[in-house]
Amino acid sequence: MDGLQITRTQTPKQKPQGPLGFGKHFTDHMLIIDYTEGRGWHDARIVPYGPLSLDPATTSLHYGQLIFEGLKAYRAGDKLVMFRPHENMKRMNVSADRLCIPPVDEDFFVKAIAELVKVDADWVPSEPGTSLYIRPFIISTDVFLGVHPSHTYKFITILSPVGSYYEGGLSPVKIYVESKYARSVEGGTGYTKCAGNYAASLKAQAEANQQGYAQVLWLDGVSRQYVDEVGAMNILFVIDGKVVTPDLSSGTILPGITRKSVLELLRSWNIPVEERKVPIQEIADAYDNGTLQEVFGCGTAAVISPVGELKWGDKVMKINDGKIGALSQKLYDTITGIQTGVLPDPYGWVYEIK
Ligand SMILES: *Cc1c(COP(=O)(O)O)cnc(C)c1O
Repeated sequence: MDGLQITRTQTPKQKPQGPLGFGKHFTDHMLIIDYTEGRGWHDARIVPYGPLSLDPATTSLHYGQLIFEGLKAYRAGDKLVMFRPHENMKRMNVSADRLCIPPVDEDFFVKAIAELVKVDADWVPSEPGTSLYIRPFIISTDVFLGVHPSHTYKFITILSPVGSYYEGGLSPVKIYVESKYARSVEGGTGYTKCAGNYAASLKAQAEANQQGYAQVLWLDGVSRQYVDEVGAMNILFVIDGKVVTPDLSSGTILPGITRKSVLELLRSWNIPVEERKVPIQEIADAYDNGTLQEVFGCGTAAVISPVGELKWGDKVMKINDGKIGALSQKLYDTITGIQTGVLPDPYGWVYEIK
């Protein structure tokens, strides 16, 4: 590929044995592209995976001018594919704009990531449900303790072979509806994948875990009356045959690519979809009158994650007898089928790495 230099490792690592888990193992190489004001992005290179050397006064370490993305590569028969990678680079540019980071050339960066996956192709696992998680990120690299947009950056991509999210089938998760802490407010950074959003979410997550809940469902940061999203997943409700999900106009919700794909599929199946404000009280009422049929989260890591229980204040809602719903299962089967080449791809979602 023009404009990309490749240096291969002389000491390839042992591939992991046994269950892979998530984000624990890393491949032999990484992609780095530098940015210098006046020069733009330059020196795209694939180099052996290893530690970064950073001055302790590097701005991103202090003020968090740091954004990331997450997508996956899969084996689809004898092909290697990625799922909608241009959507990730487009979203990275939305995050970049909010954090005063210069934009990337979406097409070049997708191609460079594809080259990295090619170099580490033998790390893409082949067991059912496994994949190669791709983590692109950008850090500011000016060495200066003033609070200001950096003049230099590094775009880096690392790769991690990951296991099946559901080793024992799609088992529903318990979710705690968060009424104390807030994740984001209008005008904030909720719609970006910036590091600070996740640092700020850890305390609520830890307290929910202590009570036996896997994740929190965030409500709006002002009134705590409207549903936003789960920690790293968007949320959808099936109420009386309709799919209801929060709309993105508040700017407090991360626009998931899985969410977008789910909504496109539902509309193509002529299932009614409502994107609008969703009061948590409406969910409780639907539960009480027996019309809350399914609740599920969606995101790259799990694709579809059925919710078996929601706890809001003192109210515990057990959904669909703690089993995955029919629509959740159909969405999971369809998306993973398209990703792995088992089903046709009428939407052009799959990007083949040639
Ligand atoms: C990444 C993420 C999602 C899911 O986005 P996908 O593109 O579907 O993986 C949802 N919410 C938050 C907060 C996220 O960070």
